[in-house]
Amino acid sequence: MEDDLRNILYIFALQNAVKHSSLPKPGTVIGMVMGKYPEFRSRAREASVLMDEVLSQVATLSSVEREDQLRILAPDVADDISRPRVHIKELPRLEKAEHGVVMRFAPNPSGPLHLGHARAAVLNDAYVKRYGGKYILRIEDTDPKRIDSEAYQMVIEDISWLGITIHEVVYQSDRFDLYYRYGRELIERGGAYVCSCENEQFRQLKQKKTACPCRPLSVEENLTLFDKMLAGEFYEGEASVRVRTDLDHPDPAMRDFPAFRILHQPLHPRIDAVVYPLMNFSVSIDDHLLGVTHVIRGKDHIANTRRQRYIFDYFGWDVPVYRHYGRMGIEGVVLSTSQMRQGIVSGEYEGWDDIRLGTLRALSRRGISPDAVRQAVIDIGIGETDISFSWDNLYAQNRMIVDPVANRYFFVSHPVGLEIRDAPHQVAHALLHPNEPVRGKRILPFTGTVLLPREEIEKEPAVIRLKDLFNVIVSREDGEYVLTYAGDQLSEARDVKAPIIQWLPADCALPCVLRKQEGDVLGVCEPDVMREAGSVVQFERVGFARIDDTAGDRIVAYFTHR
Ligand code: GLU
Repeated sequence: MEDDLRNILYIFALQNAVKHSSLPKPGTVIGMVMGKYPEFRSRAREASVLMDEVLSQVATLSSVEREDQLRILAPDVADDISRPRVHIKELPRLEKAEHGVVMRFAPNPSGPLHLGHARAAVLNDAYVKRYGGKYILRIEDTDPKRIDSEAYQMVIEDISWLGITIHEVVYQSDRFDLYYRYGRELIERGGAYVCSCENEQFRQLKQKKTACPCRPLSVEENLTLFDKMLAGEFYEGEASVRVRTDLDHPDPAMRDFPAFRILHQPLHPRIDAVVYPLMNFSVSIDDHLLGVTHVIRGKDHIANTRRQRYIFDYFGWDVPVYRHYGRMGIEGVVLSTSQMRQGIVSGEYEGWDDIRLGTLRALSRRGISPDAVRQAVIDIGIGETDISFSWDNLYAQNRMIVDPVANRYFFVSHPVGLEIRDAPHQVAHALLHPNEPVRGKRILPFTGTVLLPREEIEKEPAVIRLKDLFNVIVSREDGEYVLTYAGDQLSEARDVKAPIIQWLPADCALPCVLRKQEGDVLGVCEPDVMREAGSVVQFERVGFARIDDTAGDRIVAYFTHR
């Protein structure tokens, strides 16, 4: 019988400790147990003795151990706890990787990296780290229509923000002579021909599985035409090189796809060229020449993998191991580079780090740590099933990182200045971090008038507790709110379930705007927030925020998550 009571106290204490990430008060746990199990009410004295024992036992456990114990003893209760359990998932093993891997991340320099890129960048990196080997960053700048010259630098910065280890950087625009050489060889091997059909004419023939008139030309004729292309003797659209595939292929997009095209406009920012390799050609040549052993990329590349296989086969090369992960829907942010660019040009977005965008810059500005992005992406994994990106998981990962470091401060939204009647002047001391008293305290002097969040007062509570200060009775006189001092005791506030409210001294609070994706929240914050430029803090009961700018006439903070 005694054991039953002890067990139940233990489970409730664990539950409470896990839920609030701190050791509960004995009275709280006993109250909960007696509420749920009235049969124990007659044993209140015994319960309080047992409670002390139980709490000292819980105190010795780490937070993970507390959760694990709870899961063993009371799985139902454990599942009810709202705080999501953050666990580390492992990626599946890769075949043929035991002796090390060579992998690549191959973005187009069309804009900064976003969450979609982060998935490819992180997953390939994770495998290189796991198996050892080499990670190549290959800048795929073979389409001058999709190059933003500033993106070259932005991509490098974003990769370094993500904390990815790159062993070699390759620019495809440095390799055009190589592509031409292999283009020539592919023609010599009978694997490609120069096609001078008009696009539409070729398309119609292709639909009918019919060879175009250029297909039967001899190797010599094709080489001469290829040289003419390189010498700039064709206008745009007048000639292209096509890979000879299978005209009967069930997928028309597979039939004699292009390998090179002519472009006179726009000019390439790094090189002077008129003949441009298309992605499937340059990717195949590079994956082979750079010794890439494993390619992890999205399902949208499955058709490209098929096309690339033709090129590998003509050259007699072994193909890398390919894995294609499912699509990832990302809600709530803009991801299309062209849409982002348009919005920036029109002034709708502030820049590439506008928090409504899904760029890594935007996440960084909001105070999301690269390690959280990394873990969230690894949790999604390389499965083929389409999924949606879980912001909740990203936030849970980030919370684990920022919670132990973020200093705590008060932020009062939509402040209203109110005098507190009959209150002794005093100074409130509040810990910078509840789990680390050594960091010190913030000092908030109370000298008569405080700033309080308008929305809290408008709820018209009878009593409120000003956090770390004292209790206040709220009443109305002639339509005006009147606040009267009602003692210092926290327990009294608890007894009447008074809401605990953020406040700031009227004479030293600083104006602060908390920028959220859905709009700005105007408020005031503690003066010490000035020292936190660039850091993530926790505005108590509001959420985490990254302090972006302290130089202007108001502090600018970006909301991270709750
Ligand atoms: N540059 C290509 C892209 O960003 C990737 C090519 C690849 O992964 O094979 O879509």
